[in-house]
Amino acid sequence: MNLKQKIPGQRTPLLFSLIVLLVAGCTERAAPVPVQPGEPPAGLLGTAVLPLHYRLELTIDPTKERFSGKTSIELSLNEDHAAVWLHGRNLSVAEVYITDADGRRTDATYEEQRESGVALVTFEQPVSKGAATLSFTYDAPFNNAENGLFRIERDGEFYAATQFQPIAARQVFPGFDEPGFKVPFDLTFIARADDVVVTTTPEIALTDLGNGYVRHQFATTRPLPTYLIAIAVGPYDLVDYDTLPTNDIRQYELPLRAIAAKGLGDRLQYALENTDGILNALERYFGTPYPYRKLDLIAVPEGFGGAMENVGAITYDEFLLVMDADSPLRQRRAYTGVHAHELAHMWFGNLVTPKWWNDIWLNESFASWMQNKAANDYWPDGEFDRATLKGALSAMRGDSLAAARQIREPVSRNEDIGSAFDTITYQKGAGVLSMLERYVGEERFRAGVRLHMQRHQDGVATSEDFIESLADGSERMEIGSAFTSFIEQPGVPLIAVSVSCESGEAPRLEVSQSRYAPLGSSIDAAAGSWQVPVCLSFSVAGERDSQCLLLDDKRQSVTLDTKSCPTAVHPNADGAGYYRFALNDDAWRDLLAVANELQATEALALVDSLDAGFRSGVVGADAFLAGMTQLVNHDAWDVADAVIDKLEAIQDIIPVGQRESVHQAFRNIVRPRFERVSEPDDAGSRILRQSLERFLVVIARDPGMRAPLAQMAVARIGLDGEPDPGAVPAEQLESVLTVGVQELGDDFFNALLEQAIDASDPSFRRAAISALAVTEDPALRAILHDTVLSDSLKGTESLGILFQLMASPGGSGQTFAWMREHSGIIIDTIPESFRSGIVPVLGSSFCSNEQADEWQAFILANAEKIPGYERRLAQTLESVSLCAALRDARAPALVNALTR
Ligand SMILES: [Zn+2]
Repeated sequence: MNLKQKIPGQRTPLLFSLIVLLVAGCTERAAPVPVQPGEPPAGLLGTAVLPLHYRLELTIDPTKERFSGKTSIELSLNEDHAAVWLHGRNLSVAEVYITDADGRRTDATYEEQRESGVALVTFEQPVSKGAATLSFTYDAPFNNAENGLFRIERDGEFYAATQFQPIAARQVFPGFDEPGFKVPFDLTFIARADDVVVTTTPEIALTDLGNGYVRHQFATTRPLPTYLIAIAVGPYDLVDYDTLPTNDIRQYELPLRAIAAKGLGDRLQYALENTDGILNALERYFGTPYPYRKLDLIAVPEGFGGAMENVGAITYDEFLLVMDADSPLRQRRAYTGVHAHELAHMWFGNLVTPKWWNDIWLNESFASWMQNKAANDYWPDGEFDRATLKGALSAMRGDSLAAARQIREPVSRNEDIGSAFDTITYQKGAGVLSMLERYVGEERFRAGVRLHMQRHQDGVATSEDFIESLADGSERMEIGSAFTSFIEQPGVPLIAVSVSCESGEAPRLEVSQSRYAPLGSSIDAAAGSWQVPVCLSFSVAGERDSQCLLLDDKRQSVTLDTKSCPTAVHPNADGAGYYRFALNDDAWRDLLAVANELQATEALALVDSLDAGFRSGVVGADAFLAGMTQLVNHDAWDVADAVIDKLEAIQDIIPVGQRESVHQAFRNIVRPRFERVSEPDDAGSRILRQSLERFLVVIARDPGMRAPLAQMAVARIGLDGEPDPGAVPAEQLESVLTVGVQELGDDFFNALLEQAIDASDPSFRRAAISALAVTEDPALRAILHDTVLSDSLKGTESLGILFQLMASPGGSGQTFAWMREHSGIIIDTIPESFRSGIVPVLGSSFCSNEQADEWQAFILANAEKIPGYERRLAQTLESVSLCAALRDARAPALVNALTR
């Protein structure tokens, strides 16, 4: 099956511009021919017209269905133009004209020509090259999901907020909606007198218009791309926090505020109090101050799960911002990590911006890598220090697909921009940065980063620019080709290592590389070739030692700097390399024998490579299980956590009828580790206790543990009286409610659903909704289906339910049938910019080729609503067929090993 479709219109514009060039060449000596429009561009607009400055004035009243605006854009025309291409979507343009440098006005028409928001402005007469100003008067509808300018109703009040990345600014104002066009903006908003108005820069003037509306005028921005502008208008609670003081690096005080829907303002203190320290950590790393004049944090009432690094006005899902010092650890850690990520973007992405979406890794890989550095610096006990490694290991699953993207992947159509925001861009990219940072040394790497920021501040840069800055700043020129081999090629390197020891000679290592391919994969393992910094650790005379090399060939032979033969060779010392490793049976056994003495990073890499070996067919079921049983007892909390993730995932290949006996085996493996963390103190133990409890109770169905939790669930929800929020510690809430749903029938389910819908606490809502979605009762599933179709939940909550229902082996058929019936409404609840990344993936828990075919038919039937679906669908179908191949090849042996 070939899912890659021909890109419509790709060839035509090229031909057309050739013709235009030829015509222009022929008439060189006659009057210049103004640039004619040709076909609407599918991706980049080109550089014949450059924006220089925007002036926006928008009237935003969230109680209305539409907003209205005036936009004027100062431009530079490089040629005479009969028409110009720009971006605009769903805008009803009442008037458009252009004024040249001498003030002469030429009227124009505006027409949207592509669904992705490519529009043509045609002038009544050609306009001469040079400076000009293009002016629009228009109105447009508010969106109802997080995309463009959207409005939300909460308790009878209406709020408006924005999400422009990647290409939704064009739904709010006409312009040149590409990251490469970076210019200043003057922003003015007219709003209801009582509404709070927040945007990118500080407010400089306020004028009462006398009709119930007020004009808010804001300071001119630094040069910015369209996607980084944010606007929030509505009856928000606004909390003015203390101005952040100056420090060694920043000589000016920074005003800090936060806003949230009415009634939530008093739960923003934790976020506000925990901003300065994170920001300082970043300022110390970059050696330059936060680049903007103020900082506002916005809790968006209908945020779509994440956050967005808009300049000076970061938007967050409520779960990430609305909390207190005693909120669950998981929520406070999520805030810290995400907040550090968004603040890191103020440098990576905002101060220096990628020229085009193919280089979005320059934003996301860096922010993901930097967030863990800054979070760890600020909260050393928060367990962020191995987060980049764990992220990189988790990205390897998707990177093992034949349909995996490269970190830097060409983007030729607007429709394909959305699919660039995936785990490859974020987590693999962060892992590769971490590996190369280790290779050149932290200080040298930082020198390269600082040089890059200095060279390109307020401008745009490409991967080549970054690699040049890094090579110059670190004085390590060879870094360029290593970088390129990782960012411009998909896949996980598989490093195979063997040791040979002859008496009287130094031990020799044979190291070779291929591309990792799981069972059933179409990947050509021999095709991959990287420049990999490989470091090995090993034991010699009872001591651990290590040695490094840069593997730039398919195969390399090295002499070890040791006299005696090493044992327990670990091919990824400190887990520093973005690769998996392979060993022969004896070497696996040798390494696993010391697994619990390995440092945590190496144990994490070992868990991953062992699991990968089982999935590729080279590690047997017995060895896999023996290794996992041993590693779950590693002292580091996250090693045990990684093991239970692998066990839970491998359950997918076990037939439903055999799961009960497998669960018994899971309990035997995991229970002893749980007993050891029963008295939590530090953050790691608390996280581990929570996830082990969930595993034992929800996955492995430990009857002894379930009974008391069911009692707690009754008390928490108040089945026998009033709900008692004190009945369950915050960190046990989800497991307790899940057991309640599984054990306590309709009454509990209905009461929990009602309380979830009414709750304002984002943490309770999340736990309750996740618990509700585990129900296996068809009638209760049908209630959840109806709830998703009603608008009583947030979009992300409905989506979370859908993912869980589709992942349930016993009930996904019922949910899929219902999805087919209501596909239009369901897809509409997902913001347009996220659809191509989300909808195709909903089928990823299937595990048979028949289901893959049915899923493909479903997505193709709805393709029009999911532009850019192709890559994620190909990846989903591939992982479904890999699951089927693994099940056919390995399930009997695995069940046998588990139940023996
Ligand atoms: Zn980001």
